Amino acid sequence: MMGDNTYNPYEHAQAQFDRVAEIIGLEGATRELLRQPLREYHFLIPVKMDNGSTQVFRGFRVQHNDARGPAKGGIRFHPHETADTVRALAMWMTWKCAVVDIPLGGGKGGIICDPRNLSENEQERLCRGWVRQVARNVGPNLDVPAPDVMSNAKHMLWMLDEYEAIHGGRYPGFITGKPVGMGGSLGRTEATGYGVVYTLREALKEKGINIAATTASIQGFGNVAQYAARLYSELGGKAIAVSCWDHVERKPYTFRKKDGINVDELCGITDMYGGIDKSKAQDLNYEVLEGGAWLEQEADIIIPAALENQITIANVEKISPQVKIMVEGANGPTSPDADEVIKKRGIFVIPDFLANAGGVTCSYFEQVQSNSNYFWEKDEVLEKLDSKMTAAFIAVSELSRQSSLYMRDAAYVISINRVAQAARMRGWV
Ligand code: GLU
Repeated sequence: MMGDNTYNPYEHAQAQFDRVAEIIGLEGATRELLRQPLREYHFLIPVKMDNGSTQVFRGFRVQHNDARGPAKGGIRFHPHETADTVRALAMWMTWKCAVVDIPLGGGKGGIICDPRNLSENEQERLCRGWVRQVARNVGPNLDVPAPDVMSNAKHMLWMLDEYEAIHGGRYPGFITGKPVGMGGSLGRTEATGYGVVYTLREALKEKGINIAATTASIQGFGNVAQYAARLYSELGGKAIAVSCWDHVERKPYTFRKKDGINVDELCGITDMYGGIDKSKAQDLNYEVLEGGAWLEQEADIIIPAALENQITIANVEKISPQVKIMVEGANGPTSPDADEVIKKRGIFVIPDFLANAGGVTCSYFEQVQSNSNYFWEKDEVLEKLDSKMTAAFIAVSELSRQSSLYMRDAAYVISINRVAQAARMRGWV
């Protein structure tokens, strides 16, 4: 699912930035400062394995920018993780926090590993090992991690515990995505997927399209895709396909039900990493198609909600003429050349760092709740999340209309201007 070997996500992120820096005439030092990370940490994590051997893992934390507040962003566990992937993701976090106007910068972490092949105890030691390497360079006022691909609430709590053991105190604002009852926020699990659908709902409203008359095809069935499919279906939309990565066969599959998937039913046969059981799906009358089929469906909406570089020049032409809207639940799912094709076709794009900002927005609420040690009701969290996402969508879409800018460029203009202004006000540039 990682696409071709020549793809470099950091070049992708920088190309997007440079385009918009040109449009807004961003001057020398500011441009240089924002097109690369401020700080990075690369380190090794030796882990005692259950069989008595020691395995050495490679870990990263990249702080792209903290002009607007402490760096913020997840820690991704993935066997194909690279320093450049983490750099790109850190950069996208900066624009993400800026577009929803929360007082945080952008960072990202990663470990090259496959948690599906590690025991619980090995995962715990790996999480604690990651924290030991960066414990003095992260923290509630410096850089606040969170979950991302294949990392979850349990991992966050082990990381918090290690951080607190090192620093000798309780620092619940150090990390977000914690379990509810242990400093986590209600709604955090749902937040990214729900946020995707809040922005989609607003786009449909602007276009005068009734959500109940639409169909969607979704890539992925992890945290983001599951909750996006759930809320979209609850609002009356018909999700006709989702996909997943089969990690034993090392290839993806698409699961289709033309009269609409049942999210609860599918979740019941899905593992914690979003892997759907093929034979059980067939028993439930899902058609099991090849992995790329999700992109070729006759649907009104496509929602890539897996990994970066999934829609490329090699498959972009396969998008059905029926597709009117693409909502990017994943970070960087569309390669820059495929993006040009999508733009020319007039598909309305809700770009990644706007569409999937619900996760970090709820992380911000979690920090606020953790720091004040007072926790809100779920309805209150989701209401605040909805209003943040809706306001951000409207601001981007208005700018896009007024200045005849592609939605992605409009989102970048808002974010880059906010971060550049913060850097200027601090006297950095
Ligand atoms: N990993 C998520 C993202 O890519 C959430 C980050 C956070 O909550 O800090 O947006």
